[in-house]
Amino acid sequence: MNILTDLIHAGAWDEDPTGTSSLPIFRGSTFSQQDPLTSPRWDYGRSGNPTRAGLEEAIAKLEGGVGGYAFASGIAAVNSVLMMFQTGDHLVVGEDIYGGSFRTLTTLFARWGLGVTWVDAADLNKVEKAVRPETKAILVETPSNPLLRVCDLRGIAQIAHTHGLLAIIDNTFQTPLLQRPLDLGFHLSIHSATKFLGGHSDVVAGLVAVAETAVGKRLYAVQNGFGAILGPDDSWMVLRGIRTLAARLEMQQRHALRLASWLERRPEVRAVHYPGLQSHPAYELHASQTTGPGAVMSFDLGSEAAALAFLQAVKIPLTAVSLGGVETILSWPCRMSHASMPPSERAKRGIGDGLLRLSAGLEAPEDLEADFAQALESATKQ
Ligand SMILES: *Cc1c(COP(=O)(O)O)cnc(C)c1O
Repeated sequence: MNILTDLIHAGAWDEDPTGTSSLPIFRGSTFSQQDPLTSPRWDYGRSGNPTRAGLEEAIAKLEGGVGGYAFASGIAAVNSVLMMFQTGDHLVVGEDIYGGSFRTLTTLFARWGLGVTWVDAADLNKVEKAVRPETKAILVETPSNPLLRVCDLRGIAQIAHTHGLLAIIDNTFQTPLLQRPLDLGFHLSIHSATKFLGGHSDVVAGLVAVAETAVGKRLYAVQNGFGAILGPDDSWMVLRGIRTLAARLEMQQRHALRLASWLERRPEVRAVHYPGLQSHPAYELHASQTTGPGAVMSFDLGSEAAALAFLQAVKIPLTAVSLGGVETILSWPCRMSHASMPPSERAKRGIGDGLLRLSAGLEAPEDLEADFAQALESATKQ
C-alpha cells in the first residue's frame, strides 16, 4: 500500500468485534488468565497492551519494519535502544545529535562503560575509521539537530553491514512519511513521537521500528524488563496524530521552504540551514534518500544579543523546546535543546549563540513573514 493509506489504517484493531472507527483505549493493567495453562495473548499491561500494540504495529508498518515498540518518551526510546548494549561495547555516534542523547551517552551510559567515538557522520571515511573490534553500532541523525547536516544513509548502512554492526537512526525530523531508513539498510529507526507523529504539542512519546525479528526480541526484552512503556491513553493520542501526519507535514514543509527562502534573502540573517534550499551543501544527497526536506530549519543571526532580541520581538511562534507541532516553534539551541552540551563542545560543532531553530507550523506564511520582518528589524537595532 501507499504510505498515505497506511497512515490512515495501520494499527487498526483486527480483533475488534464492534467495528469501531477508533481503536479503544484499554486501561486495564492486567488481563484475565482463566485457563492458566494456555499462554494468553495479553497478560499484563507492561508486557503488552492492545492500544499500545495498535500504535506499535502502525510504526512498524510505516517504517517497513517487522516490529514496533512504544516508549514513555523519545529519550526513553533512545535509552532503551542503548540498553541493548553492555559494558565494554563501543558505539560510533554522529556528533550533532539531539542534546538529550548526547547527555545520556556522556553521563549515564559513560558511567556504565559504554564507549562512544563522536564523528562527523557526513564523512563516511571518519565513520569507518572510528570502528573498533568492540564496536557494536553506528548511531546517526539526518538531517541533524540543530544544523540540519545530512549524512549518507546508504553509506552508513553499508559500513554497518560490512563490520557486522547495527545501524541506528533517530528519524524524528523526517518521519517515515519522508524518510524510510530501514529500506536503506538500517536496523533500527527511533522517533520522538512528541514531535511530528503526535503533531499537536500535547503528548510525550517515543517509538522504535526494527528491521529484523532478532533485533526486535532484544529490544522487547529491554522494553518489558526496564519498563519505560507508553501508556494506553498516550498511545491513542499518538495513533490519532499519525492519521493526519501527511496533511500536516506536507503543508508544514511547503511553509518551511517558503520561510527558508525568505530568511535567506534577509540581510540580517547570516546563514539558513535547510536541506530544501539549493544552497544546502548536501541538497542532492538529501533528495536522493528522502521524499522531502521536512519542516525544520535553523538560521543564524550572528550573536546572542540579536537572537535574544528576535525572540523577544516575535509574536506568532511559540518560543519553546520542541518541534513538529501544528504551531510554528522557535527554539534557541544554545539555551534550550543543547544547553546540556558544554559551550566548548557547542562551539566545536558550530552551534553558535545566534543560532535559532524553526519548526514551521500551519499558520499563514505571510503572517509569519510579516512578524519575522518586524522582529528582525528590532533585532538589528540592538
Ligand atoms: C525531542 C527529540 C528527542 C527526545 O524526545 P522526547 O520525546 O522529548 O523525550 C530525541 N531525538 C530528537 C531528534 C528529538 O527532536
